[in-house]
Amino acid sequence: METLASLTAIAGFVSLAASGALAQDALPQTLFTNVHIFDGISEERIENANVLVEGNLIKTVSTDGIDAPEATVIDGGGRTLMPGLIDSHVHLYATGLVQSFSGLQAAKWDQIGATAAENARDYLYDGYTTVRDTGGMGSGLRELIDKGIVDGPRIYASGAAIGPTSGHGDWRNPEQRTFNMGSDDVANTFNLSYIADGAEEIRKASRLNFAHGASFLKLMAGGDVSSELDPLWSVAYNVDEIATAVEAASFFDTYVTVHAYTDETVTMALDAGVKSLEHAQMVSEETVKRIADEGIFWALNVAGMDPALLDHPNFSMPTVKPKLEEYLVGSENVIEYIKKYKPKIVHNVDTVLSTIGFGRAHQDFEKCYFAELLGNHAFLVAATSTGGELAQLTGRRNPYPNKLGVIEEGAYADILIVDGNPLEDLSVLGANPKWFDAPARDRGFETIRVIMKDGVFYKNTLE
Ligand SMILES: [Zn+2]
Repeated sequence: METLASLTAIAGFVSLAASGALAQDALPQTLFTNVHIFDGISEERIENANVLVEGNLIKTVSTDGIDAPEATVIDGGGRTLMPGLIDSHVHLYATGLVQSFSGLQAAKWDQIGATAAENARDYLYDGYTTVRDTGGMGSGLRELIDKGIVDGPRIYASGAAIGPTSGHGDWRNPEQRTFNMGSDDVANTFNLSYIADGAEEIRKASRLNFAHGASFLKLMAGGDVSSELDPLWSVAYNVDEIATAVEAASFFDTYVTVHAYTDETVTMALDAGVKSLEHAQMVSEETVKRIADEGIFWALNVAGMDPALLDHPNFSMPTVKPKLEEYLVGSENVIEYIKKYKPKIVHNVDTVLSTIGFGRAHQDFEKCYFAELLGNHAFLVAATSTGGELAQLTGRRNPYPNKLGVIEEGAYADILIVDGNPLEDLSVLGANPKWFDAPARDRGFETIRVIMKDGVFYKNTLE
């Protein structure tokens, strides 16, 4: 019986392969004409150009006419064609689910999954065709999205964030913090956060993440502004512990990123071989130079660096306000250093907890404030080509091995067409100077006229 079953399977494989070859001859084509291209890199648009998409890839980019008689033609009307946006630090399961980390203990698996699906839709229809989830889940939602069952962006997931007892990932209630570690921690059960103390627990947590489909790993290497147990200056892991995760990641041909703010924790992470940093705004000039020299990717979210937050009631609690003050003082020169050394910055919003509406306002403000500090072009590069470069760091673990975040031949056809020119005016991508006082908006922006991901239209208001 077994032999028969395997033979049938082989026969099935052969016929699938044959029909695949036939289908390849007739891949659908879309020809975008009359567009100005922001290619993800250049400071100037390519004026009056055309882009041919074949299947799920960009086949031709040219300022000459492209001969494609079978293609569906979309006249861009002189608008900007650009890569889909990439947010390199999201929390799909958490935004809109509960108001606090400790609230997660009451969350049910179906709420977590449904919230993640809803947030995934939000990102896609706001123009994000790729996101990197830095804490939570594995490959499950990605597989549903890639099969077309749920609308959403491409997902690079870290699996559970790995952190120590009393670290930024310790979201247990006090009665759950027992010395023999009960297993009733919801965050642990649903692969949102693993508490791992010592190198061997870190190694096991790393492998569990790969078993659940992670594309890379994230470690909580130091304290945070928002959580209660970890002073902002606290150190979570020593260099050997971080290096254990780096080795476990390298065995799966991928990398480790760390949650770290201070110069001390960032330096320890770099010494251990980490290739990507989350936050890291409290670093010295010397460390920024090192980050640039070593080609480290830096997910720099800037919304929290707005000094106006100090006067906001949400940050007035005695547990948070001193941490925010410490953070604002520690980060006051970082933009100047970044302008000087030009490290590889990726765009990230890091919306977490709160409500979906607040998450949208946060996202819109992050775009605006980033551009105010570093310029529109820097924002656009961070949110496209540099995000795509970071995606490639997942090596043979990469679920999407072609290029992302650029308009060039052979890259994935993840494309936006927007009114106006985002290099001059980022409001066409939703950038908004208001955050807490921003009026509520619905999903999506009218000025984003076309959203294509993997060669498939998710929005087209040009027809
Ligand atoms: Zn985060």
